Amino acid sequence: MVRPAKPAGPASQADAPAAPPTPAPAGKIIEIPSSLSVKQLAEILRVTPVDVIKQLMRAGVMANINQIIDFQSAGAVAVSYGYQPRPKAQARKAANAVREMKKQQAEEKETPGLKPRPPVVTVMGHVDHGKTKLLDAIRRTNVVATEAGGITQHIGAYQVEVNSQRVTFLDTPGHQAFTAMRARGAQVTDIAVLVVAADDGVMPQTLEAIDHAKAAGVPIVVALNKIDKPEANPDRVKQQLAEAGLVPEDWGGDTIVVPVSAKENKGIAELLENILLVAEMQELKADPNRAATGVVIEAELDKSRGPVATVLVHNGTLRTGDVLVAAAFWGRVKAMFNDAGKQVRRAGPATPVAVLGLGGVPAAGEVFSAVPSEGHAKAMVEKRRSEQAAAARAVNLSTIFEQITAGKVKELPIVLKTDVQGSIEPIRTSLEQLSNEEVKVRVIHSGAGVITENDVMLAAASKGIVIGFSVDADQGARRLAEVEGISVRRDDVIYALVEDVRKVLKGMLVPVKEEVIEGRAEVRAVFPAAKGAKVAGVWVAEGRITRGSSVRVLRGNKVLVESTVASLRRFKEDVREVAAGYEAGIVLKEYNDFEIGDQLVFFRIEERV
Ligand code: GDP
Repeated sequence: MVRPAKPAGPASQADAPAAPPTPAPAGKIIEIPSSLSVKQLAEILRVTPVDVIKQLMRAGVMANINQIIDFQSAGAVAVSYGYQPRPKAQARKAANAVREMKKQQAEEKETPGLKPRPPVVTVMGHVDHGKTKLLDAIRRTNVVATEAGGITQHIGAYQVEVNSQRVTFLDTPGHQAFTAMRARGAQVTDIAVLVVAADDGVMPQTLEAIDHAKAAGVPIVVALNKIDKPEANPDRVKQQLAEAGLVPEDWGGDTIVVPVSAKENKGIAELLENILLVAEMQELKADPNRAATGVVIEAELDKSRGPVATVLVHNGTLRTGDVLVAAAFWGRVKAMFNDAGKQVRRAGPATPVAVLGLGGVPAAGEVFSAVPSEGHAKAMVEKRRSEQAAAARAVNLSTIFEQITAGKVKELPIVLKTDVQGSIEPIRTSLEQLSNEEVKVRVIHSGAGVITENDVMLAAASKGIVIGFSVDADQGARRLAEVEGISVRRDDVIYALVEDVRKVLKGMLVPVKEEVIEGRAEVRAVFPAAKGAKVAGVWVAEGRITRGSSVRVLRGNKVLVESTVASLRRFKEDVREVAAGYEAGIVLKEYNDFEIGDQLVFFRIEERV
């Protein structure tokens, strides 16, 4: 899979039909790594990168010169030059190791060793509704291991015991962490506990949490918290929950709602029992007798102990001495500690342990597995490192379209943000009506307000796109969208948005115009200049200013004008750009009414699909 980008070089050149490649000596075998850049492929094939780009375009793959492509795409180009592509020896070795491991895992799967495992629970909800307090209350009353005097260690997750059954809680509350993990491909949560304060009711982040849990297909148990408060109004909250699609059991629905007080430790036992009930229905099972696989919950570099990673075993049993591969790191497990800080020699399914011995610090959400030998570990790490740059997670429009045409994607998930609540329904309906036999368009989350990082993360985790009607993406969201390769489409006209999505479904990728903020400056003085113009003496607070870039003048929160930089000077010298921390004199095209204190935001418009 490639990460599409703007074609390299001038469009006219890239658009020109590719000259038929000169065939290589009949069927000459050529070794190609499992992933490589367009440039590297061009070197291997002894052709120019532009030729490779053209061949890739013929195959429907848009790539620029530095783009990493996989063996399949590279192989297709090699074939067009008359070569017989073969995976490079090292890649073959890694592939063999992976195949061997998969075979071993498949064999193990066949053994009927599946045993019930504890559920893994994430606590979600609106800010200040009591998520942290609830996690504390649960931990205090029910910690499994009280050997260490009841003092638990914060390792990112903990287990409690209820009626001699265990439940694992992830210690980072909120749907942000939950969805961030999903975006990395790790779905560890089996049940979401939605905390709703009985005095405050369903709030925007409650709704967001519901959508994030639903998008992941995770069942929700509601903890109706703060019932000790005199203002608590459980019935009103139940009404709101029903409106949000979670109809409480006592109202004839199937959502379990447990009244609790995290502050007074009330209802905690009932909550846990209900969690177990839901877990039972899910029939969660794992095989403790196989090699361990799981997910990194959190990891850090400890000054004295080296990399310490808290892992949650998903399947199998992890033992001291096991060789572990997590992301692009490997190591032999030197020691393991449970959530009570006690050293343990083994950790079974759904058990969180802090592990010492990895060669580096993997990111939260990375998947790990125990492998048979150091040789296997090295081969796997080698493969992953070479693949890392391939950005396999990128979910942008052309990837989505490729998968639609390949029949791999049956649904296009959309996160919809609008300026006002009232716009949501008409747009949702129009978008969902675009569904056809091949693909269903589904709005998985909607809300009024700017596009935030959470929205982008949800789209990333669900392999979807973000749509904004008359709203912008905040800076964090833009950055994340860029990193994750998520398409964010914005417009002020409903028809244009719907048309855009229709084109996406048809694979007609239209580039969107995206604003990239280059810098910010503050007007500190205003001077008269020739022909009645005014020069703004500015101080660059952030980024940089370039001559010719677009600029927006803000007074308070109000945008006064959009213009371009007509002249940029430092000490009477014309300059091309001025960096943060420096002063400059600026003249804008057709704008003169500066005031001291005005803010200038410099930006450029980029196009991307
Ligand atoms: P979070 O932002 O959801 O993690 O919320 P916190 O756990 O930090 O709680 C927010 C505030 O609500 C804190 O001041 C808590 O002491 C308070 N709080 C949490 N649970 C309860 C409860 O059951 N009853 C009452 N009265 N206050 C609570």
